[in-house]
Amino acid sequence: SFLPEDIRRKVENHPCYSQEAHHFYARMHVAVAPACNIQCNYCNRKYDCANESRPGVVSELLTPEEAAKKVLAVAMEIPQLTVVGIAGPGDPLANPERTFRTFELIKEKAPDIKLCLSTNGLVLDKYINKIKDLEIDHVTITINAVSVDTASKIYPWIFYNHRRYRDKEAAKILLEKQYEGLQACVENGILVKVNTVFVPEINGEEIPELSKKVRSMGAFLHNIMPYVEGEGTAFSKAGIRPPTPQELKEMQEKCEGNMNLMRHCRQCRADAIGLLGEDRGQEFTKDKLSKIN
Ligand code: SF4
Ligand code: SF4
Repeated sequence: SFLPEDIRRKVENHPCYSQEAHHFYARMHVAVAPACNIQCNYCNRKYDCANESRPGVVSELLTPEEAAKKVLAVAMEIPQLTVVGIAGPGDPLANPERTFRTFELIKEKAPDIKLCLSTNGLVLDKYINKIKDLEIDHVTITINAVSVDTASKIYPWIFYNHRRYRDKEAAKILLEKQYEGLQACVENGILVKVNTVFVPEINGEEIPELSKKVRSMGAFLHNIMPYVEGEGTAFSKAGIRPPTPQELKEMQEKCEGNMNLMRHCRQCRADAIGLLGEDRGQEFTKDKLSKIN
């Protein structure tokens, strides 16, 4: 297998992290987190966060109680369900009450289910103890740059400690917090995957270095995802183009020598349900669940 033994043991029934497991085990995302604390130039806020989601799809927003109920209903229908994640539609940690309440309820009602979280990383270190207490052992951080210059082309602003920062100042804080968050997870024994949105003209040159850096800091997977054009985003207005399939493949190969790359990620939507590559979300919408009890 492609993973070291100790990590392998931790992820063997995790469909997203194990190439073997993703054929047999199911995962589910619950969309409980509407707000975001940064702006990415590839995001139009109408759709799910690119932290962990396929852009262009709107998720049905749930309360923590509805989310927990949905998890239980799905677990009864799909016994291979091993992982429940929160990935949006905004940033889970920009909605800490809703996100952590959801995890608490799931942990209470279905303690065997593994929990995971995707974030842009801005406030990850702030919540590290909470994440540890809830035994969330998988965190995905979306990191798109190494240099402040590149980051400032991707993020026009952030909202941090009650105020808005813009341009290079924003980019500098965000990068620092992302790498600090990564470090805090590693120090606390939390597995970290890094997602990178590959935008050839913006961060293409920096990705091999980024890949080396996150590996040396202890991330165990680096998932390079293609930028996908979204209607009305700053990037699409500026005519920024997505990578070609060939460019994506070459970038993934270039970084492969560096670390374990995840090639089977399907960029599932924030309310995806089922085996990877499969989405049974429509079977478990709110109105259908209300008929269950
Ligand atoms: Fe959009 Fe996610 Fe970026 Fe927030 S972190 S702006 S929700 S892509
Ligand atoms: Fe797994 Fe990727 Fe889907 Fe998240 S988006 S559940 S990491 S395949």
